[in-house]
Amino acid sequence: MRFIFFLVMIAAMPDYIGAQTCLSQDLLNAQLHQNAIVTGDRARIEAFTRNWIELPQHNAGAPRELAIIPVVVHVVWNNPNENISDEQIMSQIQVLNRDFRSMNTDLGNVTYPPFQNAIADAEIEFQLAEVDPFGNATTGITRTQTTLPEIGLLRIGGKRAICYEELGGHDVWCSNHYLNIWIGAFPSGIAGEASFPGQDIPEEDGVRIAPQRFGVTGTAINAPYHLGRTATHEIGHYFNLYHVWGNSGNSNPDCLFDDEVADTPKQAGNYLNQCPSFSELQSSCIANTPDMFCNYMNYTDDACMVMFTQGQKLRMRAALNGPRLELVSQSGACLPVSNQFEPTPDMPIGLHPNPANQFVVIEGLSAGYDVQCFGVNGALWPVYQELENKIHVGHLPPGAYILQIKNERNMITKMLIIARL
Ligand SMILES: [Zn+2]
Repeated sequence: MRFIFFLVMIAAMPDYIGAQTCLSQDLLNAQLHQNAIVTGDRARIEAFTRNWIELPQHNAGAPRELAIIPVVVHVVWNNPNENISDEQIMSQIQVLNRDFRSMNTDLGNVTYPPFQNAIADAEIEFQLAEVDPFGNATTGITRTQTTLPEIGLLRIGGKRAICYEELGGHDVWCSNHYLNIWIGAFPSGIAGEASFPGQDIPEEDGVRIAPQRFGVTGTAINAPYHLGRTATHEIGHYFNLYHVWGNSGNSNPDCLFDDEVADTPKQAGNYLNQCPSFSELQSSCIANTPDMFCNYMNYTDDACMVMFTQGQKLRMRAALNGPRLELVSQSGACLPVSNQFEPTPDMPIGLHPNPANQFVVIEGLSAGYDVQCFGVNGALWPVYQELENKIHVGHLPPGAYILQIKNERNMITKMLIIARL
């Protein structure tokens, strides 16, 4: 159902996209307008976020456990100069690890004391994945040549083409376990876009960035967007941060909207292509208080966005304790179902009986597959595989479960219901 709404949303995409650098908020707003499921999911996530932040133990700005995020970078290239080097990718990971730990050397640009006091170490670090979804060693980088130009923004049948091998891109790796970053060409003027938590289907949940905006070497050396801050900004969205001017679109001229963060002053504009100085007061919504143009969630030049705030950190940490929890815990079945799995056409994979009581038979399964069983909360339940395809489930409490069936190359998940009279 969500997918059907998504098709409608794409037909209604705004036509002024060439005038800005980040599409995340426009895409979210379009989906909220068209898709009741996304609207409900986002409302629940916002309610969770507010409640989590208000808990006394989360309010003090105390140090938290370091969150280490496994990253996979899918390079999807048409022109060879879009096939960015490993070195360029690693230069971006280094930038992220400085920016999200407030270890960037340009923090000294913030000369306004209240903003200095708001600077936060988000205590989030990023590592290229060392193990792929099938348990094999990996560099955390995939490379795909495509015949499609500007695949970064291309939709085919409503789908983001870059997220699907069958459409010329690369399939997602379990989007609950990895931060998926797709690198692909965008139309001129667009830097990228990210999925807010709860916004996109699992196949498309992640971040998409133009190759000349990713990293600080190779093809990403053209000022003023040459310091890797596009990824810092987009991953901020991925962890549920809005633009500083609020969630209204690309400006907030009447100062009606806010970013749900207490320590970023309300702001009217977006500072696109600007690099203001604190020596001249840049105040748009709150008298005698400068706008926080130096925040990563503005459109300021790379050299002039240098900080997250404590309030933004709380929103990101709430995401890591809620909708993005499995990035850290690595719990739960891998989402989404891999479409690389191809059962024989005359014997599709099925579970029988389903609902089940004491055992379930996996029909259509060839040899060499392992089966794991997860509760809907992500907990792993041991199951006994008596034969290759006969699984004992008599010890499972009644309820819904996910069977993950995989060998070294393929994986599929099936919903299993346990019911007893
Ligand atoms: Zn943005």
